[in-house]
Amino acid sequence: MAELKVVVAGAGGRMGAANIRAIAAHPGLSLHAAVDRPGSEALGQDAGLFAGIAALGVAISDDIDAALHGADVIIDFTAPDATTALAGRAAALGLAHIIGTTGCSEADDAAIARCASDGARIVKSGNFSMGMVVLANLVEKAAAALADYDIEILEMHHNRKVDAPSGTALLLGEAAASGRDISLKAHSVRVRDGHTGPREAGSIGFATLRGGTVVGDHSVILAGPGERLELNHRAEDRSIFANGAARAALWAAGQEPGLYSMVDVLGLNDATRKY
Ligand code: NAD
Repeated sequence: MAELKVVVAGAGGRMGAANIRAIAAHPGLSLHAAVDRPGSEALGQDAGLFAGIAALGVAISDDIDAALHGADVIIDFTAPDATTALAGRAAALGLAHIIGTTGCSEADDAAIARCASDGARIVKSGNFSMGMVVLANLVEKAAAALADYDIEILEMHHNRKVDAPSGTALLLGEAAASGRDISLKAHSVRVRDGHTGPREAGSIGFATLRGGTVVGDHSVILAGPGERLELNHRAEDRSIFANGAARAALWAAGQEPGLYSMVDVLGLNDATRKY
């Protein structure tokens, strides 16, 4: 099969560079174009050199029309307004669109879903790490099977992270709540301090650690009478997201138009939630 021609949107960003490296390393994918917003300092640079690998002969540009001409798939880790605009173009051209952008509003998500109905093959996920998607699926199953065990979610990140708990910890909480058919919002305990009283049965607890250069550690602990099940994930660098996006691009090539998630890409068909 011919190599898929990939456009990296947000090529001048941290994930853009990781995506360029992943495409260069993945058989079956080739970098067709690399785009960033007008005014980006990355414009004009060779995408490979920008990403810290050998030159690829593709200059980073802000000409989206030229970039999409002749392309098969867009890997897009940018910003919500850029992503919704690109989804419209993907639908018009029948392209696959791999969306890692986070922070989309409900209106953005509705617009993206409409583009999928209009002919785009979209894979959208808030976390493209394949290990994390499998972990969330395992958590959902464990929470259902061990319905009376206490669930605690522990995360550690580097000392510059400004929000807590991490979005991924909350995703794991949603997976646990989904397995139990309860609302996370109504059952989560995000902070404990002072005389808290005994643990409330059925709650889902969160604990946050910060320090050093930790990229992202997450543990989900299911504690029952006389035993503890611990499910852990350790992220080493952001290549895990780029590798997942590359796999999604290859998978999407053979799909009908529609809105998919990494759960579909990995064939986790029993998952009730879309990650
Ligand atoms: P970043 O700020 O380093 O990069 C974003 C890039 O997008 C910048 O170069 C910016 O100029 C570019 N951009 C913005 N508007 C654009 C437009 N209209 N056209 C073309 N390019 C445009 O950020 P990042 O760390 O690379 O993250 C990017 C996005 O990906 C964020 O939403 C982040 O939360 C998300 N993210 C998702 C995952 C996942 O697995 N889903 C993982 C990591 C990051």
